[in-house]
Amino acid sequence: MAGILSAITLEEAGLTDYTVYEKADRLGGTWRENTYPGLSCDVPSHLYCYSFDLNPEWSRLYSPGDEIESYFERVAAEHGVVSHVRFGDEVVRCVFDEGRWHLTTAGGVHDDVDVVIAATGVLHHPKYPDIEGLDSFGGAVFHSARWDHDVALEGRRVGIVGTGSTAMQIVSAIVDRTAALSLFQRTAQWVMPAVNPAYTEEEKAAFRTDRHLMEGLRDSVAQLFDHFSDGIVDARSPEMAMIERFCLDNLENSVTDPELRERLRPDYRAACKRLVVSTNFYEAIQRPGAELVTEAIVRVERDGVFTADGRLHELDVLVLATGFQVDAFVRPVSVVGRDGVDLDAVWVDRPEAYLSISVPDFPNFFMLNGPNGPVGNFSLVEVAELQIGYIMQLVERLRRGDGREISATHAALARFEAARVAAAANTIWATGCRSWYLDDRGIPAAWPWPFRQFRAQMAEPEWEAYELRS
Ligand SMILES: Cc1cc2nc3c(=O)[nH]c(=O)nc-3n(C[C@H](O)[C@H](O)[C@H](O)COP(=O)(O)OP(=O)(O)OC[C@H]3O[C@@H](n4cnc5c(N)ncnc54)[C@H](O)[C@@H]3O)c2cc1C
Repeated sequence: MAGILSAITLEEAGLTDYTVYEKADRLGGTWRENTYPGLSCDVPSHLYCYSFDLNPEWSRLYSPGDEIESYFERVAAEHGVVSHVRFGDEVVRCVFDEGRWHLTTAGGVHDDVDVVIAATGVLHHPKYPDIEGLDSFGGAVFHSARWDHDVALEGRRVGIVGTGSTAMQIVSAIVDRTAALSLFQRTAQWVMPAVNPAYTEEEKAAFRTDRHLMEGLRDSVAQLFDHFSDGIVDARSPEMAMIERFCLDNLENSVTDPELRERLRPDYRAACKRLVVSTNFYEAIQRPGAELVTEAIVRVERDGVFTADGRLHELDVLVLATGFQVDAFVRPVSVVGRDGVDLDAVWVDRPEAYLSISVPDFPNFFMLNGPNGPVGNFSLVEVAELQIGYIMQLVERLRRGDGREISATHAALARFEAARVAAAANTIWATGCRSWYLDDRGIPAAWPWPFRQFRAQMAEPEWEAYELRS
């Protein structure tokens, strides 16, 4: 998504001497790697797409993953950027020396470039749980982002570890295909109710002929998400109270068995962890073959999962829906900036970047969806579009010859981080839950202000935050 976006933006700016490095053999990123049953985006499709390539063909309000992948592939092809992609080779090292970046790939290619845009993804490196005996499992075991489609689910006993959005989507999609389904829950989740209607042929035809219809729809969804962001960045806001009410009503009204309802009831506030948006998770977990397991996992054995109550849950398939290493960003690429400064050393405590885009001493190196940006139930496409617009303004200064090296100053990053950490204390993420939004200090690693403030900041750089060197 972000790499294709960068390529299209560079083309449009007339900067045609660029290469997109893609270690896989196809485009699609997240939507290529995640192929699990039920995969969909939980941002409505008319917002989860590029503003310059609205898509009248979306099948549903929330379209499935393979449709999203096809969309990105089509857009890349139609904008003629695929020939610029070097597939099947991983960038392993970027070193800044004498005003240029020197890139090395795993395949031994060396390239010298003026500017690096790191569009390496956010939820990209799967995180595996540290469970004793995982290797001893006699059935099939795989991470949700590495789904093994050779493994049949029909009539089999399937266990799912994790209760994030992915796990919930999988449960809803497969519960009726399995002989038995066990969902191993460490933490209960708030579930935002949703409907997912298909677009009719008439609606699609109208979208095709009248772009304003799609724009209007996109704007209204964006406004809803703005209200949502107003809520999560202010835990005491009326918007937050409304979100909590929706989730609570959903739990109360959808789960009939009081004992199950209590086990599904989180002990923290809604949206403290990333909200699960689902049309039918509660219905699925109440199906006859489904079981919610809330006893802690002690170990995995050859025949299944052994829990703290002394029970062995016999399984044929074990799915690890345990998320991603969210603080990797461009790593494990070795990035060495000015005067030999190593990004691994700079980020030894935690990753930081001015406005999530630029790191001091790493000139002409810009990140899309970098550290501490807007995350959580937003359209990261919208985020990346705003960021690339901002980055292009930095690049324009180089292009105009105002300097050869541009990066945020240390003072700007320190000021930004101080303000960000202070504001983060007011967000819903800081209200006492364990989540992947929190850094090693327990501080939300995210943009803690309303989304419209992000839009405003991305509109034009504050130039005093940057150092230009010739
Ligand atoms: C299951 C799931 C559901 C999601 N749902 C939503 C949602 O509802 N809304 C939302 O906004 N976001 C969602 N996301 C987040 C999603 O990752 C982003 O929306 C978006 O796809 C990120 O695009 P990207 O291009 O930044 O990164 P990616 O899609 O991760 O692409 C990064 C690409 O860079 C390549 N790459 C990485 N490192 C290197 C290297 N060193 N050399 C060469 N190539 C490299 C990778 O192979 C990959 O193709 C979801 C993610 C997952 C996993």
